[in-house]
Amino acid sequence: MRDEPVTETESEIETDPVCGMRVEDELARDHDLAVVYEGRQYLFCGPSCRAKFLHRPADYAVPGRTQP
Ligand SMILES: [Zn+2]
Repeated sequence: MRDEPVTETESEIETDPVCGMRVEDELARDHDLAVVYEGRQYLFCGPSCRAKFLHRPADYAVPGRTQP
């Protein structure tokens, strides 16, 4: 009887709002590249994109569903 390792690949892919690159949720969190802005999480491919976003978040933030 052998155990097949269950690989949980439920990591989500998000888009870096600054450069448009696809970023893996788990990877970004590992590298502290996730930013929560106005209740929404944004992921970045690198510190430079994260810095750009933090400098002017309104320029990059995606206008999502506004909660009442
Ligand atoms: Zn980027």
